Amino acid sequence: LTSSTTGERLHVIHIAAEMAPVAKVGGLGDVVTGLSKALQKKGHLVEIILPKYDCMRHELVRDLKLLDVPVESYFDGHLFKNKIWVGTVEGLPVYFIEPQHPSRFFSRGQFYGERDDFKRFSFFSRAALELLLQAGKRPDIIHCHDWQTAFVAPLYWDLYVAKGLNSARICFTCHNFEYQGAATASDLESCGLDVYQLNRPDRMQDNSAKDRVNPVKGAIVFSNIVTTVSPSYAQEVRTAQGGQGLHGTLNSHSKKFVGILNGIDTDAWNPATDPLLEVQYNSSDIEGKAENKEALRRQLGISSADLRQPLVACITRLVPQKGVHLIRHAIYRTLELGGQFVLLGSSPVPQIQESCREFEDIENHFRTHEHARLLLKYDESLAHLIYAASDMFIIPSIFEPCGLTQMIAMRYGAIPIVRKTGGLNDSVFDVDDDTIPVHFRNGFTFLTADEQSFSNALERAFHHYKHDADGWKQLVQRDMRIDFSWDTSSLLYEELYAKSVARARAANRT
Ligand code: ADP
Repeated sequence: LTSSTTGERLHVIHIAAEMAPVAKVGGLGDVVTGLSKALQKKGHLVEIILPKYDCMRHELVRDLKLLDVPVESYFDGHLFKNKIWVGTVEGLPVYFIEPQHPSRFFSRGQFYGERDDFKRFSFFSRAALELLLQAGKRPDIIHCHDWQTAFVAPLYWDLYVAKGLNSARICFTCHNFEYQGAATASDLESCGLDVYQLNRPDRMQDNSAKDRVNPVKGAIVFSNIVTTVSPSYAQEVRTAQGGQGLHGTLNSHSKKFVGILNGIDTDAWNPATDPLLEVQYNSSDIEGKAENKEALRRQLGISSADLRQPLVACITRLVPQKGVHLIRHAIYRTLELGGQFVLLGSSPVPQIQESCREFEDIENHFRTHEHARLLLKYDESLAHLIYAASDMFIIPSIFEPCGLTQMIAMRYGAIPIVRKTGGLNDSVFDVDDDTIPVHFRNGFTFLTADEQSFSNALERAFHHYKHDADGWKQLVQRDMRIDFSWDTSSLLYEELYAKSVARARAANRT
């Protein structure tokens, strides 16, 4: 154990809809695990509460067992029993809540995208607080994430403090302001919140519809600490253009709002130990990268004729945010430039993702192509091999709260080519930009979200790769050595937590 900065051991509870690797859709799952592990390493007591999804990877939970006593929680005027399971994930203690509700909320074969998501997650938020109350826990910090567990903030202050669960400060992290979970105001009643009190402009009322409530807005108003996942994104969402309707609310609460760049789990993402690679390698000896490239090419059935032929990759959810038209453009432009392209793209909500369907045609088109392969699925193992195999990695996002793939790519020696937005702007600095100190330059960036600007960045990357092999090798090694671990970011969370706890204690004394 390393010792905490503040010298005090904090008890932190995360209440979340995702946790890598047992229940992961995107970056949220990685953050919950990465931040928790880093805080635990610093000596804090960290526990996590998750729904018990039927589709989660049960085999990754150690010592999963059912607790003897069920927890009863309120919903729609009734009390429902919840089975409480406890187990260990990545060395962290996790509680899984399995509601005994006729709607079988978390036995749907998928994490999100159900018609009744608002009900599913408001139920879960309340059950999680009920678990803390009935278990007699006295956490210092309850940390909730995204709209799915945003209900925790108003539930805590409006109902649970009075019941005696009153030791905590609430921290809310919004990982993506695009998803706010707004719904008809009366839906809020089900979990026991007072619609009359909360459907007001300064509380949970949606900023664009008087008859709707907005869980993310509620969490901004009701939390002690509000964070998002990069400093640049925190700036962007405070503007009318980037705020997705919440810029006014964020500006009114700006004192408690801060952007902290996510880290990555450097144990899980480590090319020197990664068991999913063909060959492990490290920044001092990057020969293994070439073998992984060959392995991927063989596995996907694309040409292995030229080892130096640059391999460009993209691993993403295929949603408009990720700049799908630019991703499509990059496939064709890469081939024109003489490179190879691999896309691993998933759609979290298959039935409604138009952008994913578009790619199915292109996937068919490239099914037997010598130099390109599109794989439309979520595949964790393949993702590891692609990061290791690729020379360049594209992320042309329209907006990007933090983005983890650019950091993972760099750790595996794939040079990122990204649009300058949100967390990409805070972590990727252009190789050709003379205003940036040389040792910070680590990739290629472009500003305008159009094909021309993106092509320009891609072409510059190809130029460096082809004409300056030594320079490229040094760039790969430099990128692999950048510290993207949670050590720094977790320190910032730790300070926020500690300050908030200290403020509360000082206030209680007066
Ligand atoms: P977001 O949370 O918006 O999806 P991030 O960049 O923050 O984007 O996190 C994406 C995470 O999900 C990364 O760990 C990435 O490797 C992983 N990922 C995304 N799409 C896929 C996929 N199709 N298969 C495997 N992993 C994926």
